[in-house]
Amino acid sequence: MKRILVTGGAGFIGSHLCTRLINDGHSVICLDNFFTGSRSNVWHLMDSSHFELVRHDIINPYSAEVDEIYNLACPASPIHYQYDAVKTVKTSVMGAINMLALGRQVDAKVLQASTSEIYGDPIVHPQTEDYWGNVNTIGIRSCYDEGKRCAETLFMDYHRQKKLRIKIIRIFNTYGPLMNKNDGRVVSNFIVQALKNEDITLYGDGSQTRSFQYVDDLVEGMVRMMNTDNNFVGPVNIGNPNEFTIKELAEKIIELIGSKSQFIYKPLPSDDPKQRQPDISLAKEKLNWQPTIQLEEGLAKTIEYFKTII
Ligand code: NAD
Ligand code: UDP
Repeated sequence: MKRILVTGGAGFIGSHLCTRLINDGHSVICLDNFFTGSRSNVWHLMDSSHFELVRHDIINPYSAEVDEIYNLACPASPIHYQYDAVKTVKTSVMGAINMLALGRQVDAKVLQASTSEIYGDPIVHPQTEDYWGNVNTIGIRSCYDEGKRCAETLFMDYHRQKKLRIKIIRIFNTYGPLMNKNDGRVVSNFIVQALKNEDITLYGDGSQTRSFQYVDDLVEGMVRMMNTDNNFVGPVNIGNPNEFTIKELAEKIIELIGSKSQFIYKPLPSDDPKQRQPDISLAKEKLNWQPTIQLEEGLAKTIEYFKTII
């Protein structure tokens, strides 16, 4: 049994990860400030004597005897990370420093949940890990993108300078049950709108692309990455390479639900990436990992979940 700290553990991805780690027989501390996460996401784990929920903000130092740290704390939806942009930078940068310091203090391995956003509006397509990205430093997405980029830098510097054991994964758009219905991200927005037969809000003309990964595939990739040998630190892309336009996503959701929703077009937010698709050759080689759940199957499971909460 390992003692594992999951920051942002009450969020969408964090709660799935906590469940997986408890099911694998580990002892888990779930740390969260409940900005976008909620206790209800981990309610089902409360009876386990191996699960502990701690209210804490990672911009402040935290201490616990643990073997591994998964650092997920950070709002991930544009509306939430832009709500208090300064706080978002602090969460990524100061949070990384605090978790890396803890890793040093107790000799724990630390995994950073980085993001495809570090590639910005990518010119290289699909995105490989050696691409440095095309990122605006002063735009509305910069608090998230640059915060996450700085966190990667800190992880690598703690590794090089202080010999800390680290892992960096770059997560591509992920969806599934337990997404907050008010989260603002595209999959949850469209499913909620389609279930209510309300207009589907397409930003821009809907021709921008994303590659959507089901949350169980991501969690499998995260655990595999944490368990790789110490020489492999990443960064490694974790995502599903099947790429869709946002309009195709909307059409698929309408079809699966049998919804009467119509499209309405809204302005495209600034710096919204035009295309995104992971190259996952490295994950295949180093983690023997690739996604197993394709869009239709994953959407069907997610729609079933949203039917229970709407
Ligand atoms: P989420 O918003 O559901 O979860 C984030 C969690 O972190 C929430 O529970 C929130 O309350 C908590 N949190 C935020 N600021 C905190 C702070 N200062 N101190 C303590 N807790 C704090 O988002 P998610 O989709 O579950 O994303 C989890 C991680 O994965 C994030 O780091 C995100 O950047 C990364 N990621 C997610 C995606 C995706 O598609 N979901 C893609 C790329 C990267
Ligand atoms: N989007 C949209 N309608 C919505 C929400 C999002 O058309 O109601 C678009 C958004 O402009 C972006 C894509 O869907 O091009 C993915 O948005 P999301 O916020 O889910 O993720 P991110 O942009 O961070 O990849």
